[in-house]
Amino acid sequence: MTQLRTGSSTDTGKTRKRNEDAYLVELSEKIKKLAVADGMGGHQGGHVASRLALEIIDGFKIEEETFKADMEKAIYQANEKVMARAKADSDLEGMGTTVTFLGINGNRGLVAHVGDSRLYLFRDGNLQRITRDHSLVEEMVRQGKLTSEEAEKHPQRNVLLQALGVEKNIEIEFYDLSLCTGDLFLLCTDGLTGLVSEEEIQNELKGNEDLQELADRLVKLANDRGGHDNITVVLCAYDG
Ligand code: CA
Repeated sequence: MTQLRTGSSTDTGKTRKRNEDAYLVELSEKIKKLAVADGMGGHQGGHVASRLALEIIDGFKIEEETFKADMEKAIYQANEKVMARAKADSDLEGMGTTVTFLGINGNRGLVAHVGDSRLYLFRDGNLQRITRDHSLVEEMVRQGKLTSEEAEKHPQRNVLLQALGVEKNIEIEFYDLSLCTGDLFLLCTDGLTGLVSEEEIQNELKGNEDLQELADRLVKLANDRGGHDNITVVLCAYDG
């Protein structure tokens, strides 16, 4: 038995007209699914892309024996479906979405990731970022062309190197995690991390009793800072 507690919250923020973020929390099957998606492009495209991608992942049967291969197939299928929908409807042309997908099977966690949404692991009081952003600025930081501080304020900080629904070829990044009792996962979109520092998030997570309250509080914090983007937070505690 995998014992999980979750809390989740999403909000349009203070300046956007529509919430183009989406999230998934599906705990009823053997392999638990948690995901966030940050849609972009077109008039209504972002909204459609993020929801469609998570619908496909939600409906994809993931077996224990083929855990990783199935997660990979689910993402590829989501990519194809978003591309096909964009092609079929000119209003949706150019849409795409990030996806950060955590599957939990017993004490094994697998992350499949495309784009710049993030997964963090809070363990023993420390917040650790697991995913890397598939963004231009993060690539430049890795190459030593920018500092992390410069990247945070860079005019092109929202430029992604890849997203779902844009091209057939995507490079899904996987992370394999061995879970410990007490681990707390945070999946979020950049509407949170663009306004709330990792240090502040870590401090908030230290008092994690009610995960729903905590998710709402993190969203509120980003809104209090201006909420210039959609904000989505999914929390999941592994209780053994
Ligand atoms: Ca965003």
